[in-house]
Amino acid sequence: MFCYQCEQAKGGTGCTELGVCGKDDTTATLQDLLVYATKGISMYAHRAAELGQRDERVDRFVVEALFATVTNVDFDPERLVGHLRDAATMRDRAKDLYEQACRDAGKEPETLGGPAGWQPAEGLDGLIDQGKAVGIADRRVTLGEDVAGLQELILYGAKGAASYADHAQVLGHEDPAIYARFHATLDYLTREPASADELLGWALKTGELNLKVMELLDRANTEAYGHPEPTQARVTPIKGKCICVSGHDLRDLAELLEQTKDKGINVYTHGEMLPCLAYPELKKHPHLVGNYGGAWQDQRKEFDAFPGAILMTTNCIQKPKDSYKDRIFTSGLVAWPGVTHIGRDRDFTPVIEAALAAPGFAEDEPEKRIPIGFAHHTVIEAADKVVDAVQKGAIRHFFLVGGCDGAKPGRNYYTEFAQQVPDDCVILTLACGKYRFNKMDFGTIGDLPRILDCGQCNDAYSAIRVALALSEAFECEVNDLPLSMILSWYEQKAVAILLTLLYLGVRDIRLGPTLPAFVTPAVLDVLVEKFGIQPIATPEEDLQTILA
Ligand code: SF4
Ligand code: SF4
Repeated sequence: MFCYQCEQAKGGTGCTELGVCGKDDTTATLQDLLVYATKGISMYAHRAAELGQRDERVDRFVVEALFATVTNVDFDPERLVGHLRDAATMRDRAKDLYEQACRDAGKEPETLGGPAGWQPAEGLDGLIDQGKAVGIADRRVTLGEDVAGLQELILYGAKGAASYADHAQVLGHEDPAIYARFHATLDYLTREPASADELLGWALKTGELNLKVMELLDRANTEAYGHPEPTQARVTPIKGKCICVSGHDLRDLAELLEQTKDKGINVYTHGEMLPCLAYPELKKHPHLVGNYGGAWQDQRKEFDAFPGAILMTTNCIQKPKDSYKDRIFTSGLVAWPGVTHIGRDRDFTPVIEAALAAPGFAEDEPEKRIPIGFAHHTVIEAADKVVDAVQKGAIRHFFLVGGCDGAKPGRNYYTEFAQQVPDDCVILTLACGKYRFNKMDFGTIGDLPRILDCGQCNDAYSAIRVALALSEAFECEVNDLPLSMILSWYEQKAVAILLTLLYLGVRDIRLGPTLPAFVTPAVLDVLVEKFGIQPIATPEEDLQTILA
């Protein structure tokens, strides 16, 4: 195996024998093959889309397959083999669709090879042999590190966008034009790239695609559950039976809340589900009592100590300890071998039974609450107040300290940075990196909390809307606002968000804790020159430079 798609890539170069995330050789190789097969489906689907034809099952499958290969999602070879068999069926559907579209248009269909011609091998060993032949390792040799790295940048951006598209689809929001863009992107990745410049152009197009997807998901979430509103979220447990819901899927939480009504079970959010406590249609349930624990990388310790059932709705799952393997459940595309998976019917009975069988919290812990719920709707409503505070000098600068958290050393930077931000500055947060400092008291400026949490990683869309609203209010470009972006990255959703910001022309983003292994020095030079991207230095140095 060779994988360098996330920040944990071993030695800063890539995982080879076993992923730092826990992905083994078999799983990694099957995922490589699934990406290859998915490109083959999109080769046909892209051509069919150009002729005005689509197949919604094919569209959804492509997005789901990409999402299944995101870091910390699917560790189960058996499920991956199932996806591969389905991929061959979907490829045949896409091929039929394209050929029919050609007949309708009186065109001769192209004969497609490469990924479009893939036929799954019979057994697991055969699939593994096929997967080994299509991974990124060989392409780094044949195409060179720069080109292969740029191709992966586009692919990882598409994977991140696919995860958001899947969440939107689950809530009934889809857009054929968005699916067509996924197919076009994957089809492009099967072609001989003309130049590094062309690849970079496609990377920005992937950022544009992700912006559209995040917009769709924002609409899906807010139409289903209302606009998040400022909320004091409880972050300490209370006595009683309990279920902890982690991941990013709002619908799973909503349905679990319905199924646990009047059952005497308290439901807690975990990790990236924390922002759910601010959605009116979710927080109306009195048994959604608060948030438990912190970011994903602490889950083995936290789930071990949690006296109830755990539902992992999407990434980021880690290898479950034996102590809680029988009371953790997966849903959606996340999977771990031997862990019970809740099907698409969302019947959470096994989760509820496990919660009732577990002891629950024996007593209340002292109450502690933190402010959340500052998504675009709330912040834009308060825009006049914010602009006034800036004009009167009460707010000097905004810092967006957003992105994923992770286990590697160097992430203390974000805690120290937030702590050192002067009192007359506001910190916007999003994604799980905020757990480094979101339980600290940062006070207020007037009646505005100094920490404004925009939500999950996909709620980067909120931060973008806020930045655009501020630039309108101040009649200047986003780059001229008193706003700096300090991002932490871990997996492919963060890649998608970064590409969106670059597509929007946002400059001078500081990125850490380390730079992606697939961005080669030559590509980094281009990103520095065109976008002023820079690695984080020390909190002191960065703050001094920014505020100067
Ligand atoms: S996803 Fe990250 S940790 Fe896992 S194998 Fe790939 S690079 Fe390594
Ligand atoms: S923000 Fe990224 S690292 Fe954090 S839980 Fe979500 S996917 Fe995982």
